[in-house]
Amino acid sequence: MKIKNNYSLKKYNSFGIDVNSQYFTVIKNDNDIDDLLVWRQQSKQPLLLVGGGSNILFKNNFLGLTAIIETKGIELIKEDGEYYYVKAASGENWHQFVRWTVENGYAGLENLSLIPGTVGAAPMQNIGAYGVELADCLYDLEAIELNTGRAKIFTQEECQFGYRDSYFKSVAFDKYLIKNITVKLSKKPQWNINYSGIKESLEGQALTALNISNSIISLRQSKLPDPNIIGNAGSFFKNPILKEQQWQELKQKHPTLSGYPQKDGSIKTSAAWLIDQCGWKGKRQGDAGIYEKHALVLVNHNKATGEEIWALAEDIIASVNNKFGIKLEAEPRIIYS
Ligand SMILES: Cc1cc2nc3c(=O)[nH]c(=O)nc-3n(C[C@H](O)[C@H](O)[C@H](O)COP(=O)(O)OP(=O)(O)OC[C@H]3O[C@@H](n4cnc5c(N)ncnc54)[C@H](O)[C@@H]3O)c2cc1C
Repeated sequence: MKIKNNYSLKKYNSFGIDVNSQYFTVIKNDNDIDDLLVWRQQSKQPLLLVGGGSNILFKNNFLGLTAIIETKGIELIKEDGEYYYVKAASGENWHQFVRWTVENGYAGLENLSLIPGTVGAAPMQNIGAYGVELADCLYDLEAIELNTGRAKIFTQEECQFGYRDSYFKSVAFDKYLIKNITVKLSKKPQWNINYSGIKESLEGQALTALNISNSIISLRQSKLPDPNIIGNAGSFFKNPILKEQQWQELKQKHPTLSGYPQKDGSIKTSAAWLIDQCGWKGKRQGDAGIYEKHALVLVNHNKATGEEIWALAEDIIASVNNKFGIKLEAEPRIIYS
């Protein structure tokens, strides 16, 4: 494992924020992971694991070691009457992994096409899109406990997945390096095509994982900014989860507000709608802005700093709170030092 000093992270975060990491390394294999654990024990420095950097906002330089996970490997490890079991290393690009599965005729991940980032970060916030979450397909994952170096297999239940949440993002935050995941992909797929726009774009085509994936790719390309062209981290805020009573009161005042009932009786509502109602879509504060086609996506028009993006986020949080009494929560990880 080679360590560099004061290394620029500009191309390692999808906002394209120009910050440095005090120390920097790239993890390519098991030996690098072993070296990383020894380095961390000996130096006692903070460690930041990064995949594609597409769910991180750097407010400042990072004081510690940034380790970019680039381990590779995708393999069909077994199949039974009902499922294919496919294992992938953390450093694999998520979208390429999805395409590998659909091109081999395995169904289940197609709705999660074109989500940026890596396989290893996907369980962190239980990535989701178009009615499907990683939790729906994850079989288990292998993680290394950073303090002890011990490897542990976590079953789907042990990952404690929730809406944009998991054991690794909450209780065990920064305690594990996720090394690989295994997904189980059903031989009798249940297609999820009811989300607006998917069914229409599939008209006249056979229902296959590959066709659905292609349709999701086109839909996403028409709605979301490409981080290679304009810096962003996708949805910047989580959709708020409201108690039934608060939801009913809001819905009465704002009949066009949409709500999705959750298993526990609460209602998930649309952060994009709330932000849009406050007039933020397309606005700019210097180079920090809100994407003109999607109120949930904060963008770096060119040279915004992380502080500037965060100041804009705080202004949005305050205005939504004033108008609706709802405090939005940021979805990406915010790095303060
Ligand atoms: C244009 C765009 C669209 C997006 N659309 C969606 C969407 O539809 N749905 C969705 O859920 N998300 C979406 N995202 C957010 C993002 O793509 C996902 O959260 C993705 O999983 C982040 O992967 P990453 O490798 O970039 O993670 P990073 O940003 O590198 O890291 C995210 C977190 O995971 C930790 N981490 C990374 N790798 C590991 C590892 N191997 N072990 C332990 N911890 C690790 C990091 O420390 C950090 O806390 C979008 C982002 C963009 C830019």
